[in-house]
Amino acid sequence: MISIAKPIIEDEEKQAVLQVLESGVLAQGPRVEEFEKSFARMCGVEHAVATSSGTTALHTALLAHKIGQGDEVITSPFTFIASANSILYVGGKPVFVDIDPNTFNIDPAKIEAAITQKTKAIMPVHLFGLSCDMEAIQAIADKYNLIVIEDACQSHGASFRGKRVGSFGTGIFSLYPTKNITSAEGGMITTNDSKLADECRIIRQHGMRRRYYHDDLGFNFRMTDVHAAIGNEQLKKLGRFNSARQKNAKFFNENLQFVQTPRTPEGYEHVYHQYTIKVPSDKRDALVEHLKERGVGSGVYYPVPVHKQSYYVNELGYRVSLREAEQAAEQVLSLPVHPGLSGADLEVIVNQVNSFLASD
Ligand SMILES: *Cc1c(COP(=O)(O)O)cnc(C)c1O
Repeated sequence: MISIAKPIIEDEEKQAVLQVLESGVLAQGPRVEEFEKSFARMCGVEHAVATSSGTTALHTALLAHKIGQGDEVITSPFTFIASANSILYVGGKPVFVDIDPNTFNIDPAKIEAAITQKTKAIMPVHLFGLSCDMEAIQAIADKYNLIVIEDACQSHGASFRGKRVGSFGTGIFSLYPTKNITSAEGGMITTNDSKLADECRIIRQHGMRRRYYHDDLGFNFRMTDVHAAIGNEQLKKLGRFNSARQKNAKFFNENLQFVQTPRTPEGYEHVYHQYTIKVPSDKRDALVEHLKERGVGSGVYYPVPVHKQSYYVNELGYRVSLREAEQAAEQVLSLPVHPGLSGADLEVIVNQVNSFLASD
């Protein structure tokens, strides 16, 4: 079976974990600090704060920015649920703005119409490894004095006009096993603002500024040194992993027929967390089955946009209709693009997609 995602764990990661176990310092120790420093360097920012997951990184960053009860945060409806849920955790309200069907990212031209007196922040999601249009988003944020929190959980190392994602606003990354690099579970917050970084460190550690003195309500969102050791080794390989993804994507771009392949606008570096094609909606689910029968894993990210999830409709009363996101949910299909694929795997994937759509 050619799987849709596969973490690549090599000797370096195994050795690093053993060293941590033997050192006796297992949590919030030197490996976490080292990982934070390297991650900040990768993004081209001053500070990085490690957390236990991408979700807790989002939660922490929203709290650190003092986003709370009744505050509105503009985000994409076409994302993993954690982007929007993190806004709910702090008492805020996710306001969904439709996507650009060519990039699957929030359409900046539609953001201004969604801004109200209560809007505090914009949370662009760099979906599938492609940055949002950060120039347009930054201009809107500046005009209305809004905070920008980038959900870069799928875009480690991606860039927009030569600048890495996570360096435009406050950046959020996930290190879950399917992401471009992993620490098993883990998250990272990136920023140039040293006060904000401090605030995040305090929230992560029970609101504690001085040992056992608690001025704020915090959480245990710490990363362990075992996880940091894995993440640190993975980070050294990010360039290699992303190049392999880009090479695989290039092969697909050149060889797939009958489908809309991913677009990379001028000035963007795509890191292909997912290689997502658009297939006619009446054929999509049959193609998934066809691929599965022939040993090719694939994924539908995402079958239901967030504003149509039953919790959002039935419990929160969302009634908006966002055509592009809803249509994308019916047409998207992600093919395996991870660095573990062989040339033969790529051939099989292309042949199976092409032959199914040619004969159908
Ligand atoms: C993976 C992901 C998250 C959450 O990260 P976890 O580490 O799984 O908590 C948030 N947003 C997006 C877009 C993601 O893909």
